[in-house]
Amino acid sequence: MSAELEISIVIPLFNEEESLKELSDWIGKVMHENKFSYEVIFVDDGSTDSSWTVVEELSAQNPAIKGIKFRRNYGKSAGLNVGFEAAQGNVVFTMDADLQDSPEELPEMYKMIVEEGYDLVSGWKKKRYDPLSKTIPTKLFNWATRKMSGINNLHDFNCGLKAYKKEVIKTIEVYGEMHRYIPLLAKWAGFAKITEKAVAHQERKYGVTKFGLERFINGFLDLLSITFIAKFGKRPMHLFGTLGTLMFIIGFFSAAYIGVMKIYDLNQGNKTILVTDNPYFFIALTSMILGSLLFVAGFLGELISRNSPTRNLYHIEKEI
Ligand code: UDP
Ligand code: MG
Repeated sequence: MSAELEISIVIPLFNEEESLKELSDWIGKVMHENKFSYEVIFVDDGSTDSSWTVVEELSAQNPAIKGIKFRRNYGKSAGLNVGFEAAQGNVVFTMDADLQDSPEELPEMYKMIVEEGYDLVSGWKKKRYDPLSKTIPTKLFNWATRKMSGINNLHDFNCGLKAYKKEVIKTIEVYGEMHRYIPLLAKWAGFAKITEKAVAHQERKYGVTKFGLERFINGFLDLLSITFIAKFGKRPMHLFGTLGTLMFIIGFFSAAYIGVMKIYDLNQGNKTILVTDNPYFFIALTSMILGSLLFVAGFLGELISRNSPTRNLYHIEKEI
């Protein structure tokens, strides 16, 4: 494969049989008009319709079209991740398969990466054609993500159309519902030049959306965990271990102090009864016990994070 390939377009898809031919023709047209060398990587995320057959047909007609097929549905993030591993182009695009994103945006975004030196250009669906039940939670999500990430210049984190410098996608790993947070992953990996471009957005022509509210909730939990990972560098022990040790030490010295005071009291001939009659003794004891538990939690977290087989547990059935 030539090292000079200019563009890779990674397209995760789940039951999008009606759109694929139209999309692939549309991309081909834009690529030829602009004389780009390119590849399209369709990742079939376990479709149950005839999507894969369509990908096979398209690939047989055009060598620029490649396909990876998952054995079952693993989610959009896994699809992107496997596409990122396979991509060979200098600039890598992600696009949805449903014809809502327009390939006409690609040349301008390509320029922003290659000529203006951006690491990531994120599409911004300035004028959206989705129902309110989708746009309202999305607004909330974008607001929360801006606040948590400090990436204040993006309106729309979740747009499927994005362009990346190759190094970015070869560095980051996308799993769970994390496709919504790729700009954060990129920023945390040290790619600071992130911007957006307003892009056209079409109504879904065929099929139905695959993302409902429950995926927003999962996404929020993923945001908490990646924020944690970024802040504490995947080291639960650093946080829980420190907290636990501190609590244990405070508890231990308080208990020791109470004990010593008791002995001192006895020496003075005062008849206080038992150490355990001092209510502070129980607080000290509780602090020691909780401290030990936190320490153990940190230790277990550490063991699990080191030994977790891989967060991207997916199986490829076929590749063309
Ligand atoms: N998708 C996928 N796996 C899934 C769900 C969706 O690969 O489990 C693909 C889907 O086929 C589409 C893209 O991800 O190409 C975006 O999905 P969709 O259009 O349903 O999301 P929306 O535009 O409504 O946010
Ligand atoms: Mg869509």
